[in-house]
Amino acid sequence: MSFVSAVAPQACKRCLYTTDHPLGLTLDAEGICSGCRIHEEKDTLDWELRWRRLEELVQPHRSRAGNYDCIVPVSGANDSYFIVHTVKERLGLNPLLVTYNKYFNTPLGIRNLANLRIRFNCDILVQNVNPVSVRAITRASLRQFGSIYWPCIAGQTVFPVQTAVRYRIPLIVWGAHQGLEQVGMFSHEHEVQMTRRYRKDHDLMGHEADDLLGIFDTLREDHIWQYRYPDDQELHAAGVTGIYLGNYVRWDPKAQHEQMMKLYDYRTASSSRTFDCYDHVDCYNFIDLHDQIKLYKHGYSKVTDHACREIRHGRLTRVQGLALVRKYEHASPRFAGLFQEWLGVTASSLQFLLDQHRNPRCWDAAEPGQWVFRGASTREPGAETDAAPAIPARAHFQATDPWPTDNAKYIVIGKGYP
Ligand SMILES: [Zn+2]
Repeated sequence: MSFVSAVAPQACKRCLYTTDHPLGLTLDAEGICSGCRIHEEKDTLDWELRWRRLEELVQPHRSRAGNYDCIVPVSGANDSYFIVHTVKERLGLNPLLVTYNKYFNTPLGIRNLANLRIRFNCDILVQNVNPVSVRAITRASLRQFGSIYWPCIAGQTVFPVQTAVRYRIPLIVWGAHQGLEQVGMFSHEHEVQMTRRYRKDHDLMGHEADDLLGIFDTLREDHIWQYRYPDDQELHAAGVTGIYLGNYVRWDPKAQHEQMMKLYDYRTASSSRTFDCYDHVDCYNFIDLHDQIKLYKHGYSKVTDHACREIRHGRLTRVQGLALVRKYEHASPRFAGLFQEWLGVTASSLQFLLDQHRNPRCWDAAEPGQWVFRGASTREPGAETDAAPAIPARAHFQATDPWPTDNAKYIVIGKGYP
């Protein structure tokens, strides 16, 4: 259960994050948050110099022995195209793409992933963990942590590392570091690399695979072993290093996605819960039910992440960002029914479980089943009913495809494209 502090959270004067951000965030004397301050580095650092630094860093990894040069974790969305474009076309490396199948795939995600492999002419390794284990873990982590996404996040972050060890390909290239991008946990100049510790503490809510065995008597060794992070000895023996491109390239996901749409026909779809239709189009849950749970647990959802990012890049004002947050954050998930069917739970039992995880700092139980929202956006001036300000063209996101509605169905194993 969440800890209720008497100290009221304070909002950044520039973006919309508050001191309640789960990754930890501080405000300076001017009331500007650490994330906004680190973002300022994007306009002061010498990015040509940083690019040369990246070239030096990858140079020893160019394979002369008939192996791949590096591993790139990908999906049918996020920043996959941009990362592969940078690694293969700009750095001239030969990557092995790896992807963890989260089973909640949309047709567009399957299409984007196949198109990625074909356009860049890359080899790809797909991890399909047996669905019985995935369901068992999801059921347990939903009950205990209020998370339907633990196996997806664990799988996405561990499979590339396991592959690095197994195939002796020590370099893993990731996109941006979330702790740097959102809350300014580090400077770009720290050149932070992938660590077991960050993954456990922040990605996995403090619980690695083996910890689950101690918490849940419903889980067994054969459910969790695929999610086990290699031990330090294995990592050292293989010399595994994970780097983040965001430390060397001026990271701007909107501009990057638009470039990828033009160059490689990356396709996008509009969501009911945010204005950014470029990310997460590969999954029925991430920007849907999983995002509603984020609002329950943290009092804000993905649309706030997107608004903060766009404010920092100067494409939205704070008022425009807030209006977008209020417009989207309470939209009902469209695909919760698919998840109920997949997990074998009823709508009311799922809702009951999720209500247990509402953060008391952000939600008041008025009467049984009646909740009043007290999240970050409600503490800002203006009301949800105020007329929304016009959104400038520079902040416009373009959806190329519709989300499937009538025949929506998880594509468990996608056969590819065309
Ligand atoms: Zn800020």
